[in-house]
Amino acid sequence: MGDRRHFIETASAALGADPGVLDVRLSCLHETEPEGGPEGQGPFLNAAARVETTYDAVSLFDLMQRIEGDLGRERPQPWSPRTIDLDLLLFDDDLIDIPKLTVPHPRMHERKFVLVSLAEIAGDVIHPVMGQTINGLLNSLSC
Ligand code: ATP
Ligand code: CA
Ligand code: CA
Repeated sequence: MGDRRHFIETASAALGADPGVLDVRLSCLHETEPEGGPEGQGPFLNAAARVETTYDAVSLFDLMQRIEGDLGRERPQPWSPRTIDLDLLLFDDDLIDIPKLTVPHPRMHERKFVLVSLAEIAGDVIHPVMGQTINGLLNSLSC
C-alpha cells in the first residue's frame, strides 16, 4: 500500500544503516498481481535483497521485524495489503524451524515473484532443502 517503491528503498536503507549489516544488495523491483489474499487488492511490488551481516538468522529476522514495525506494518490478516513485508528467504545453508521463523522460507521455491527477484542477486545459490540453484528452481516453474 502507499508509495511501494519508497517503502522498499527505505527498508533496504534501514537494513544497511544497522551496525550488524555490512552490505545490502537489492534486486530490481518487479510488479506482480496478488496471489491469494482478499479480493480487490492492487498489484504488489517485489524485490529481493542480499545481506552480508554479522548477525545470526534470528537476530537478522528480529531486525527485519523492527523495520517492518517502523514502516507502519500492521497484520490485519495473512496475505492482505501492507506497506511492507520482509521475509527471510535463505540464510546460508541454515535450516531453522522455530515458532516465529522457518528458514528456508517454506513457500519461496513455488513463488515465481520470489524466484525472479532472487535469481538476479543469487541465481547460483543452492536451496539447501530442494538441492537446486535458484536459477534451476525458477526454470522448473516457468511454463
Ligand atoms: P507468507 O509467509 O506466505 O509470505 P506473509 O508474509 O503475508 O505470508 P506474515 O503475516 O508477514 O505472512 O507473517 C506471518 C508469520 O510468519 C510471522 O509472524 C513470522 O513470525 C512467521 N515467519 C516464519 N518464517 C518466516 C520467514 N522465513 N520470514 C518471515 N516470516 C516468517
Ligand atoms: Ca510474504
Ligand atoms: Ca512476512
